[in-house]
Amino acid sequence: MRVELVTVGDELLLGDTINGNAAWLGRALAAAGAVVTRSVVVGDELDVIVEAVTAALHRADAAIVTGGLGPTYDDLTRDALAVAAGTELVRDPAIVERLRRRSAEIGRPLHDMALRMADIPATGTPIDNPMGSAPGLRVELSGKFGKKVVYALPGVPHEMRAIMTSGVLPELVARMSGPPPRRRTLRTACARESDLAVRLAPVEALPGVKLAYLPDPAEVKIRINAVGPDAAVQLAEAEELVRDLLGGYVYGAGEETLDRVVHRLLVERGETVAVAESLTGGSLGAELSEMPGSSASYVGGVVAYATPLKASLLGVPEDLLARSGPVHPEVAVAMAVGVRDRLGASYGLGVTGVAGPEPQDGHPVGTVHVAVAGPGTEPVVVTPGLPLPAASAGVRPLVRRMTVVH
Ligand code: ATP
Ligand code: MG
Repeated sequence: MRVELVTVGDELLLGDTINGNAAWLGRALAAAGAVVTRSVVVGDELDVIVEAVTAALHRADAAIVTGGLGPTYDDLTRDALAVAAGTELVRDPAIVERLRRRSAEIGRPLHDMALRMADIPATGTPIDNPMGSAPGLRVELSGKFGKKVVYALPGVPHEMRAIMTSGVLPELVARMSGPPPRRRTLRTACARESDLAVRLAPVEALPGVKLAYLPDPAEVKIRINAVGPDAAVQLAEAEELVRDLLGGYVYGAGEETLDRVVHRLLVERGETVAVAESLTGGSLGAELSEMPGSSASYVGGVVAYATPLKASLLGVPEDLLARSGPVHPEVAVAMAVGVRDRLGASYGLGVTGVAGPEPQDGHPVGTVHVAVAGPGTEPVVVTPGLPLPAASAGVRPLVRRMTVVH
């Protein structure tokens, strides 16, 4: 099923309100197996809303409109749907009754203007709003495009979501025919988008399979989409191939974030981690303690930002610091070992480097050393080449975030 979204409101066009409704609807519809093929934003203008809804119904199986259902005179979605359906607005006595009851309950008078919320296109039906006054609307429209349905929902996000969940999604799902498209998101860390894409060329060649790359600093989510009668089988094959081709770059799937995976692996082994941070200033510890219950895997950390603290708090040898400065692989290793031993964790992580925007001691911005000292093996240190933009503005948060991921 192909669905188009029309979000209404001058505030969206002016940038005063972020279009969270469109984002939420996109996710909810995708999860229900529908395909959102277009999303448009229009202002509070009758003709423009009429045109947007009519055009959406020409192309898609259904349209969803949010916003402009309230009682004020800038709320024009009801009027627009009546025009699009070639009909009149009529006052629905059941809605009037509900509005009266609600006003009585909260002890407020019911203004004439509020009764506008009871005016619905003659061919429409109201959809119960469990969270507020303005009901949603379902209007069937017939035109050159055949018979199509448009749903109108209030702009207030929690009302929109409630009506959508209880009154619209079940109806859409019931009307869907054919197997839904299948999707799965795999999460990768520490690989560049272009390197991943080169490795994944054989997956792109699979029939009915499409890949989408969603990059974040030092992480890329890969969404696998499969359509067609064998979508489920194709998706499973594609996932296996992606995992084969990417090996250890894939750390999780779906909503399984990096901190959750680290936590799960440590708990499975009965192990813990402690961190010694410099350039990340505590954000590595923040990440590892994000999840409820993280105390089962995360012991704690030391933020040794000033160089002398690396010696006094973590036992990094003073002659090493004097010889090589704080930004050096051996310093990262000594920090990792120091924090592991002092905090009594199975693993110690040590990070040191240059967050920028200025170089430090001759090391360019983005020079980062990440060390791990584990049980029973020699410490390991990596010096990742971070892919940074040429401009120095905004580089600091990028370096810090990438360091946490590494
Ligand atoms: P009501 O007038 O009953 O509150 P309505 O259907 O008329 O509902 P609007 O007036 O358009 O809705 O918007 C109500 C509130 O919801 C506003 O605060 C607006 O910023 C917010 N809102 C509207 N559209 C969106 C959207 N697409 N995404 C996120 N918030 C939105
Ligand atoms: Mg509005």
